[in-house]
Order: sequence, then C-alpha cells, then structure tokens
Amino acid sequence: MIIKKNPDEFQNYLSDASNYKGTAEAVYLPENEEEIIELVKKCNVDKIRITVSGNGTGLTGSRVPEGGVVVSTEKMNKIIEFNEGGKYLRVQPGIILQDLQDYVEEKKLFYPPDPTERNCFIGATVATNSSGARSFKYGPTRDFIIGMKVVLPSGETLSLERGKIFAAAYTFSFSTDQGTKYEFSIPQLEMPDTKNVSGYYCKKGMDLIDLFIGSEGTLGIITELKLKLLPLTEKILSCVVFFANEEDAFNFIDEARAATKSASSGQKNKISARGLEFFNKLTLNFLRPDYSAIPEDTCSVWFEQEVTTTDDELTAAWLNLIKKHHADTETSWLAVDKKKQEQLKDFRHAISPRVNEAVARRGLRKVGTDVAVPVESFQSFYKWMIAMVEHNNMEYVVYGHFGNCHTHLNMLPKDQDDFIKAKKIYAEICSEAVRLKGTVSAEHGIGKMKREYLLMMYGEKVISQMAKLKLVFDPNRILNIGNIFEEKYLQ
Ligand SMILES: Cc1cc2nc3c(=O)[nH]c(=O)nc-3n(C[C@H](O)[C@H](O)[C@H](O)COP(=O)(O)OP(=O)(O)OC[C@H]3O[C@@H](n4cnc5c(N)ncnc54)[C@H](O)[C@@H]3O)c2cc1C
Repeated sequence: MIIKKNPDEFQNYLSDASNYKGTAEAVYLPENEEEIIELVKKCNVDKIRITVSGNGTGLTGSRVPEGGVVVSTEKMNKIIEFNEGGKYLRVQPGIILQDLQDYVEEKKLFYPPDPTERNCFIGATVATNSSGARSFKYGPTRDFIIGMKVVLPSGETLSLERGKIFAAAYTFSFSTDQGTKYEFSIPQLEMPDTKNVSGYYCKKGMDLIDLFIGSEGTLGIITELKLKLLPLTEKILSCVVFFANEEDAFNFIDEARAATKSASSGQKNKISARGLEFFNKLTLNFLRPDYSAIPEDTCSVWFEQEVTTTDDELTAAWLNLIKKHHADTETSWLAVDKKKQEQLKDFRHAISPRVNEAVARRGLRKVGTDVAVPVESFQSFYKWMIAMVEHNNMEYVVYGHFGNCHTHLNMLPKDQDDFIKAKKIYAEICSEAVRLKGTVSAEHGIGKMKREYLLMMYGEKVISQMAKLKLVFDPNRILNIGNIFEEKYLQ
C-alpha cells in the first residue's frame, strides 16, 4: 500500500471543490479490502481518525480531514463482475463515474445517476447519494444500489443486499459477516417528501442498505458495490428552449412535469422528460460570451427525453407545448444526434465553472443553495427568494433541477461584507425551505459546511439521535468525524 507521509505529497487531499481546508498526518492508498481492514483495525485500537476520500469534487468539505489520516480508494478502481443477463455490475469504489458509464453504454446498458460533475468516484456518489439531471425520471443513486460491502469502524465487514435486512418498525437487528450482533433503533424523523440528502435516511421498516447510502462515510467504508443497470435507449431528444419571461417558462415546466408524472412507463409518443431544468436570464448572460446564439433577454429550459419509436409525434407534442407557452420554436436548440446532445450538455454544465471563476477572481467564494421544496409551494418560494436577493442588491444567478423543484441560487458576493450578507440570506432561504416542509440539501449533502442547516431542519433532539446511531457503529469516534453533525454531539 502506498503511504504518503510528506505533507508536500498530499496537499491535494486536504480540500475539496468547496475549498474547505483541513489537515492530516498521512494519506493511505489501499489496493484491496484487506489493507483497509488492517488499517481500520489499527486506527480503531489507537483511536486515530480516518477520513475517507473520493475524488474531491464534493461541495461540502465532507472528504476534508480534520486531523488523523486519509484513506483514498483511488487504487480500488476495478470492475469485479459484469453480468449482462442479470443487468448488474459489481465494482470497487474508486472507479470514476464517467468511466463506469462509458463501460456500460458500450455494452448497450445504462446506469442513470448523472451528477453534473462525473469525475467522481462511484463509492462517493453512493456515500453522498448523488443526483443529476436524469434523477427527475430515475431518482437518485440510492435507487440503483442493490448490494454493498462496507468495512465498519471496528474493522469487521457487513455484506448487504437490497431486500434482505429490514427494520422492524424503527429497530434493526442483524449480524456482521464475522457474527457480531448489532441491535439499535433509528431516529423516528419525518423526511421531507422532496429530493433530499440531508442527514441519515431513516424510515419505518426501511432496508438496512439505505442507512449506509447517503451517510457520508460516517458509518463505514464502502469497498464494493453492486449496481442495477437498465437497457440503454440510444435515441434521445434533447432541447433548450428560450422564453421571454419566467412565467411562461414556469408554466411550461409545470405542464411538462405533470405530463411526465402521468405518463405510464413505455407509453409511446407522449411527453415524459428524463431531465427538466431551468436557467434564468442572468445565468444566460454569464454563458453568452461562449454561446453567442443565446437570444437576448431570455431565460431558458433544457429538457431531455428518451425516444423509443419514430419521433415525429413526440417532437410535435413538445413543439406544441413550446408554442403554447409563447416560446419561439425557431430559436430553440433541438438536438437529436449524439454530438449535438453533447454540445447541449456542455452548455448546461458550463455555468458552474463560469460562476466559480468569476467569484474566485474577487478572491471570494459563491454562496449557493441546494434547497428543494414541495411542488405546490415551489413557484411562490422561488419568487420570494428572488425578491429577497434583489432587495439586498446581491449579484446572483439561478438555475437548477426545476422538474424536481430544486434550485441552485448562486450568490456572487463582491466583497467580504457582501459575503456575510449572502450567508445570512442563505440561512433565511434554508429556514423558509424547512418551513415549507422542504430540504436544506437536495443533492450535495451536509458535510462539514452545512451542519447548522441540518440542525435547523431537524432540531437538536434528532441530531443527537443521529449521533447516537453513529456511535453504535463507531464508539471510538474514528470515522469521518465532523460530517453531518458537530463532534460535540458524539460525547
Ligand atoms: C461542478 C460540480 C458539479 C456538481 N454537480 C453535482 C450534481 O449534479 N449532483 C450531485 O449530487 N453532486 C454534484 N456535485 C458534488 C459532487 O460531485 C458529488 O457529491 C460526488 O458524489 C462527490 O464525489 P467525489 O468522488 O469527488 O467524492 P469526495 O468529495 O472525495 O467525497 C464525498 C464524500 O464521500 C465519502 N466517501 C468517498 N468514498 C467513500 C467510500 N468508499 N466509503 C464511504 N464514504 C466514502 C467521503 O468521505 C465524503 O464524505 C458537483 C460538484 C461539482 C464540483
């Protein structure tokens, strides 16, 4: 196993894409599960902290160590088994998501979860229950995890298969692969009925595998995954539509969302989007220098749908919807071939780096929301949020997965005072999302940067219960300390 002990060699493991900074004594790069087990056992006895690292694209500081050692799974990047008939793939956790998706698509199969940043490790996407544009149709990563192996903080292993171990109401009882018995209760919390990755997944009668998915590496280190695959639909209809005003764009989204929800699976030539996303005028202004074809003074909606038969009728249905909501079909960008679709995807993905570059030039960080609210509150919540940001003279752009009522409002502070103001606005937005029974984090997770908002969402009692649950697995407090809740709850 490679061990990096010279700090000059491991600086890049001490932060992530959020720029949150940490410290560590060494970085370990195990090549197999046995090496992880050996290291974890030693750290557990010596009470040395371990922080698990994926590829560092997280936005919440969750892989950033605060002392102790880092374990990176980058050397564990093999495909263990591809089962075409059973439509599943068994992999090690360090494989890059993009590589994995390319691999299965070559075999005419499909792994839907697609976070915008695909240069991430599959193990980390499970630890954070990542989502992407296609989650509108397919749900988050959780829905594609059918098996998992984890090394617990004790060094024992737990092999999990979906559908095998369920909670009796709120109580779990099971044994590790080595025979150690665990029995504990999970917090009885009410999770929002929206896309959500805030804190532990806890539900009456739940499957044990779901407790580990999205637990941000706090309960165990994932060493193997079994992923569900779907048949690949190669024909895709992809489109960016430009609207003169937001009301038309929102009505278009509402109708497309409702049509998608009511379309039964396999129904032909009916609107059934797999992605439905929005970009406001200010976002497009950011992109226009690179995309001169963006019409002036517009906002836009990007949608994508899989096409199973001749597409004429389906294209006509979308064009009618576009016209109904007063958008110009002539200026819309329609892509039916793969190359053009990739260009639309690049357009969609360009905004985050552009915004980050602009704020970094000021020596600051953007302040970006990840909230989602129930559909019935979405439009009024959006209007309230924008009015507040504008009232505070804050520079911003807003875009996101509006099919899922999930917004990325990015505030771009001009100076330090503005940054402090943006943080205050951010807290108010989270508070309003919680009041509306939404979530403070729909896809990025809590990590070390959003703990106070999770506290806002669930209150101290539930946070203490989550910490108690972690202590069941990690009584010596060694694994991914600081993620989800502050260390003080682990006393
Ligand atoms: C431009 C940009 C766009 C993004 N878009 C999206 C998006 O659309 N949707 C989305 O969901 N996220 C998005 N993200 C966030 C990020 O890409 C995801 O959270 C991703 O899953 C992180 O993967 P990583 O390999 O970089 O993990 P890291 O940041 O290294 O780690 C993330 C977490 O996973 C844990 N972890 C890693 N490996 C393991 C393991 N084997 N066992 C247990 N725990 C482990 C770490 O400890 C940490 O808590 C975006 C990020 C960027 C920079």
